[in-house]
Amino acid sequence: MDFALSPLYVELQEEARAVARAVEPMAVEADGMSTLHDGVAAALRASRLCELLVPESHGGRFERLDPLAIAVVREVLMGTSSHLDSLFALQGIGSYAITQAGSVEQREDWLPRVATGEVLAALGLTEPVAGSDLKNITTELVPQGEDFVLRGEKAFISNGGAAGFYSVLARDGGGHTMVLVPADSPGLSVTPTPEIAAPHILGDLTFEDVPVPASAVIGVRGDGFSYVLATLAMFRVSVAGASLGLGEAALREAARHAGTREQFGRPLARQGAIAEMLADSWAELEAARLLTYRAASLAREDPAAALHHSSAAKLLASETAGKVVDRAVQVMGRWGLLRDSKIERLTRQARPMRIYEGGSQVLRLGIAREVVQDVLRETGTEAVR
Ligand SMILES: Cc1cc2nc3c(=O)[nH]c(=O)nc-3n(C[C@H](O)[C@H](O)[C@H](O)COP(=O)(O)OP(=O)(O)OC[C@H]3O[C@@H](n4cnc5c(N)ncnc54)[C@H](O)[C@@H]3O)c2cc1C
Repeated sequence: MDFALSPLYVELQEEARAVARAVEPMAVEADGMSTLHDGVAAALRASRLCELLVPESHGGRFERLDPLAIAVVREVLMGTSSHLDSLFALQGIGSYAITQAGSVEQREDWLPRVATGEVLAALGLTEPVAGSDLKNITTELVPQGEDFVLRGEKAFISNGGAAGFYSVLARDGGGHTMVLVPADSPGLSVTPTPEIAAPHILGDLTFEDVPVPASAVIGVRGDGFSYVLATLAMFRVSVAGASLGLGEAALREAARHAGTREQFGRPLARQGAIAEMLADSWAELEAARLLTYRAASLAREDPAAALHHSSAAKLLASETAGKVVDRAVQVMGRWGLLRDSKIERLTRQARPMRIYEGGSQVLRLGIAREVVQDVLRETGTEAVR
């Protein structure tokens, strides 16, 4: 059993560090913005990292997407800038349905430009009413002869207003269908989502009878939900990676402070209670990292089969990042509270990670279901309904 990352992933970390260094001077400004930061977008394009989010056949780096590669890159990017991390991740999250199930034309039209970063991608699932319970969406695909129109609203959509296209989940008769909606479609309007504590490019989308040609249906009508699940299975573990990067950055801030500030004649780092916070944070981040890398390695083989591992990694890593950042503030005393300091930014940015791409409670439900099924399967026992 080898716990070290292979050279391929170490090189990817180096590549990611280079773009993180380029973005560092812009990070405070970019992470305070709810619209696109052109400098960060240009640095990401120049890095060619978006190639990791598209298959080789359409301008990507590897034959198929590699969840471990994406996770280790997000770990590095998020430690520097959430704006950078989000721009990177959304190129995959927004385009994966096309990668999996899109027609030849859809793939050829959009994926090469996603791989270069020329076009930004977005995924429209959430609605004003429907959140975790996505089966409850009301945005509707209405047949019009051979084609369709799209009616409804989406809310809190990352890259809303900046994206070149939206992969949108819609109700379609009794089932759900995913459609590809270019940003310049007539009848589509985007308004900024009310700003959240950790600014993020977010838009609310309104579809007023947006024409959707039959050629814009992604994959098979009625199979939309399976493409959403496959997207979550591919990218959930990358949120764990980003959470680790955030936690690590917070721990480093705290360690630097505790190693250089004295109280009661000794460095803070050697005061028992402070040492305990630093040590617990380090140990918990290491545990979450091992789980994340293992889940991502399993997801490389079969993302759907590894989903409960990815969910567990996302749950543990995002909850750990929250604890680590909170301890870091405590270690840093009043310096932990300074507005627009790195630690204050990290504190705000840690919180949404426990809500998006599967809230912690919803993840626990899925993990618990898997645990129970496993035991019942092993013992040949029937589950009660
Ligand atoms: C920064 C950010 C970016 C986002 N980007 C996108 C995007 O690009 N595309 C998109 O479609 N959406 C996006 N979202 C929306 C996100 O996916 C939703 O916020 C998320 O699915 C949770 O839905 P909700 O906020 O409506 O919470 P709710 O579903 O109302 O849940 C509220 C709370 O209840 C818990 N809960 C829910 N159901 C259960 C249950 N059965 N049992 C126990 N507890 C439960 C949840 O974990 C949560 O803590 C984004 C959100 C944020 C914050």
